[in-house]
Amino acid sequence: MKAAVVSNNKTVEIVEKSLRSLKPNEALLKMDCCGVCHTDLHVKNGDFGDVTGRVLGHEGVGKVIAIGEDVTSLAIGDRASVAWMFESCGSCEYCINGQESLCRTVKNAGFSVDGGMAEECIVTADYAVKVPEKLSSAKASSITCAGVTTYKAVKVSDIKPGQWIVIFGLGGLGNLALQYAKNVFNAKVIGIDVNNSQLEFAKSSGADLVFNPVEEDVVEKIQEATGGAHAAVVTAVSKNAFNSAVDVVRAGGTVVAVGLPSESMDLNIPRLVLDGIKVIGSLVGTRTDLAEAFQFAAEGKVTPKVEMRQIEDINDIFDEMVSGKINGRMVIEF
Ligand SMILES: [Zn+2]
Ligand SMILES: [Zn+2]
Repeated sequence: MKAAVVSNNKTVEIVEKSLRSLKPNEALLKMDCCGVCHTDLHVKNGDFGDVTGRVLGHEGVGKVIAIGEDVTSLAIGDRASVAWMFESCGSCEYCINGQESLCRTVKNAGFSVDGGMAEECIVTADYAVKVPEKLSSAKASSITCAGVTTYKAVKVSDIKPGQWIVIFGLGGLGNLALQYAKNVFNAKVIGIDVNNSQLEFAKSSGADLVFNPVEEDVVEKIQEATGGAHAAVVTAVSKNAFNSAVDVVRAGGTVVAVGLPSESMDLNIPRLVLDGIKVIGSLVGTRTDLAEAFQFAAEGKVTPKVEMRQIEDINDIFDEMVSGKINGRMVIEF
């Protein structure tokens, strides 16, 4: 089978690979598609360590074509995900208290184990989340990473219907955060981005207000319009966005960090203490979060923007990603 494999010169090679036979509790997926994520760019560049030879891909959706012994959670013909949280230990405090994505020995698809950017992929059956019938594989692939990440971030912000939430960064992640906040949590949504075309897209996706921090003082505008938002989700990879997020929420407000700039944010201690501000980091989601995120997408409440590509385009896709040319998600079709 064909697979997109990390090579030692920071590019990706398409190679012929044969898979080992299934062990108990595993399933074999014939992949329908796999999205290309910014995390894949970091992985192939060796930013998280050298993983030469690894099959990329953690936004995969495929059909079960074989199951190993003792598999009860999947059946042949089901469609299931290959997600960043590929498998966790199942027995540590995080795994049993509903925070399995924080498991210290978690395995990540396309990084610590072979992922879904290939014609076939072996998954741990209990960790591959089933895709609802009404959701296309292309859309599901985006939900597997960007969707569940943003759904979870809005969920932990504890936003209530009718309250104001600010989404910083309206790219692939931010646009989905907006849709989950608006259409699932019934919040009022303010979108922030430095790019006016993203603001237009956010408006057409249902944002109540949009602001461009290059052109206006977003803190002043939001305080004026809402008296301070109840929550903010930061998907922007920018320290400025994180700092603004703390300033746009009202007393008791929550800031959820999703974007990953490699810097520190400023956090004024009197602001934190006297105004009771909560700052929360949120990393992908659990299997339950993913199943919920899939279901809302299947109901049409959230629609990811995807474009189908061929596996041979993978290095071009990374070049386009680096030069900021990508709008929506590029999804490799098998
Ligand atoms: Zn991803
Ligand atoms: Zn664990």
